[in-house]
Amino acid sequence: MSKLDSCPCTGMNLPRYVQPVLLALLAREPMYGYSLIQTMSDLSLFSGGTPDVTGIYRKLREMERSGVLSTQTEDSDIGPSRKIYSVTELGMQCLERWKKSLASSVDHLENVIAFIQGEAGARKGEQAGLGMAKGTCCCQPSCDPDFAALVQKVKRRGLAGLPARREDVLRLLAVDPDSAEAACLGREARDVAARVSGNVATVWAALGVDCVPCTMNCSFCAFGDKWGVITQPHEWSKEDILKEVKHFVDEGAAWLILRTTEHYGEERLRVLMRQVSTLLPEGCVLVANTSQLSLSALISLKESGVQGIYHALRLGESRDTPFDPEKRRKALARIPRAGLVLAHLVEPLGVEHSNEEIADCFLAAQAAGAGVCGVMARNNVPGTPFADSPALPDKRLAQVAAVTRLCGGLKMPWICVHPPVPQALAWGANVVVVETGAVPRDKEEAHTEWKSFTIADARKLLAEQGYEVHRTVY
Ligand code: SF4
Repeated sequence: MSKLDSCPCTGMNLPRYVQPVLLALLAREPMYGYSLIQTMSDLSLFSGGTPDVTGIYRKLREMERSGVLSTQTEDSDIGPSRKIYSVTELGMQCLERWKKSLASSVDHLENVIAFIQGEAGARKGEQAGLGMAKGTCCCQPSCDPDFAALVQKVKRRGLAGLPARREDVLRLLAVDPDSAEAACLGREARDVAARVSGNVATVWAALGVDCVPCTMNCSFCAFGDKWGVITQPHEWSKEDILKEVKHFVDEGAAWLILRTTEHYGEERLRVLMRQVSTLLPEGCVLVANTSQLSLSALISLKESGVQGIYHALRLGESRDTPFDPEKRRKALARIPRAGLVLAHLVEPLGVEHSNEEIADCFLAAQAAGAGVCGVMARNNVPGTPFADSPALPDKRLAQVAAVTRLCGGLKMPWICVHPPVPQALAWGANVVVVETGAVPRDKEEAHTEWKSFTIADARKLLAEQGYEVHRTVY
């Protein structure tokens, strides 16, 4: 028997919360003991386990004695008579008080969890020599104290691995990207980056394997058939792909993303991935970016050496694309279920997107269990409907990157920004992408690094922002 078997760290006093659960269930409808226990067994509260039957009957008797429950005896045709439990007036008052006291306990518990988790992360940040203040805002008094408190609250939740709340994400997005408040957000986001990643950054390489004029005609995509930007299908040969992969790996890419259209075919993609996976060193992650896949197709890709999938609920989904957001959300949820890492950026971000749209895109990534997030700006390709749209200011891109970092916390150690704006790296993004091949954000494909931005350039940019740049993710 361990000395800790009777310590509160076992969570043994959690059954105290059985009382509000019993009150809430019986407030819905009076029940007899057996059906009450059956209903409780189905609740996710018990993580699929069976509640302690003897303990529950004991608790019911106790609650009856204290006057919060009353009982009536009902005759049964199939056995002995049964006791029906119902909530008394006093019990309803008790339930209301439970609601209030549990709600106020949540904030306290979050603080305790964040403190425990944050201590471990803080050591990593300090070892990295960043000298960030622990849990304090360093820009006061110039920053609005309410905003600084919000930043600290979101940071604590994120470091505790708790999901961000929509209202908090909206408040962070609402500040002027040029303000002292945005600078406060950025500094704290950079601190979170150091804590959750050990101050490590990586470079991804993305290779667009094929392009075809696509009848889905997403408004932001150069491949859209209607826009007439890409008129001929084209695909890279297997030899060229393998050569390029080797080049990227030798240069130090820690993630290798192969982007294919749905026309490429699932079986061909699996064969290609199997071959590419043999070229990657241990710790270099192979990622597929393709159309929505079934669970079995995802599992087959995993068996072919794929470790991650890039997929996203795009900004303006169903407005700027013909895709159903609900189906997209379901497709996202399948990715972690297949045992694959989900990479989901907030994209393609333009000046017209509201804070609500941006927040919901991030929250979709969070709800689906994405381990990689961040933001990608839309490239307004000539010929597409967004050709004349103004470019997104770098500061706004950096602000959204900082929000995804702060809110993503412990669960999202990799935050990517595309294009690699230095301000966004200073505000917590630690992943930069180098691309080649078919690029849906340009009017022609790239035969060398897109926009001549190389892995060496990416590594330099990340190092300038104080990161240790690694060639693998481990
Ligand atoms: S984003 Fe994908 S689905 Fe939409 S037009 Fe481009 S290739 Fe087709």
